Order: sequence, then structure tokens, then C-alpha cells
Amino acid sequence: MDIQAIADSVGFEQTGECSTSLVKVNKQVREMCGSGRCPTFDTNWACPPACGDLDYYQERIDSYRTCFLVQTVGQLEDSFDIEGIEEYAKLHAERMKAFARKVRDEDPSVMVLGTGTCTNCAECTYPNAPCRFPDEQMTSMEGAGIWVSDLCSKADVPYNHGPNTIAYTSCIMMN
Ligand code: SF4
Repeated sequence: MDIQAIADSVGFEQTGECSTSLVKVNKQVREMCGSGRCPTFDTNWACPPACGDLDYYQERIDSYRTCFLVQTVGQLEDSFDIEGIEEYAKLHAERMKAFARKVRDEDPSVMVLGTGTCTNCAECTYPNAPCRFPDEQMTSMEGAGIWVSDLCSKADVPYNHGPNTIAYTSCIMMN
């Protein structure tokens, strides 16, 4: 599949790629999920603790050849531009839904890791009923134990694009 063409068609400003042999899950990153700072911990099938442990993610990552990163990069009015930050977060989530759909249409075996929790449903069924769309779930990169800034440097993608910018990063593991 031409992953770059798909990413371009969705509109991401930045992309990069690295071998999955460089992607190692990080216990400290995963521990942040349950530290009380993330409001989605234990509220969604695609978040810890329901989404699977780090061994599961490392095994899955190792089963793929490449990690393809995508970024939405936005210009803010200033560093207090909360509206801008929220708008770009929404744009990135919409782009990721479209990107995941297009990529999975070509290869359903890919693993999609998003930014933040899975927002496929207005309200997650967790924990009272099974996930409505298990094949379309999107675990966050942090939930999978991935240190995003470190992965960006491995994929030669800037994590920070300079003053008054915001960047949201997600990735796809694929063969
Ligand atoms: S697809 Fe829906 S039910 Fe499943 S994890 Fe995502 S939000 Fe929850």
C-alpha cells in the first residue's frame, strides 16, 4: 500500500517512518496513564488497564516491519490559544479516523495507535458491555507504552515545531 499517498490525501502536515526494531515500550510512559493525571484511564476499552499490558504491545510491535508516523501541525495565536489547541486536536482526531479507515481497508492487520483515547463512539461501552467496534479501536500511543518524543526522533520527525505551534502525533505499525 502507498501509505504516504494515503497520509497526504488525509492532509497530515508531517510524516516519518522507522523500523519497528527501534520501537520499545516504556514502563514509565505506561505508568503515567494511571498516575491520576489522565482523565480517560479506566474509562475506555482502548485505554489501560483494559487495552492490554506492555508485553502484548511489544509482541505486536515486533510482529510488524515498519512504524509510520503522522502529525497534524497547527499554528497558534500564542501559547495561551486554548481554542486553537482544541481545534487542532479535533482536526487530528478526525484525520486519524479517516486515515485508519483507509489504511485498514487496504490491510486490516495494521495496528493504529492514536493520540488520546478512542473516540469512535460518543460514549464508550466500557465497562458494562463489549466494545462496539473492536476492529476499529484506537489505543493511544502512551497507552501502548510509547514515548512519543523519542519515537519522533527515531523517525526523524520534529516533536516540537517551534514557538506558537502545536503538533499531534499518531502512528501505524504495518508490514
Ligand atoms: S470503539 Fe467505541 S466502544 Fe470500542 S473502545 Fe472505542 S469508543 Fe469504546
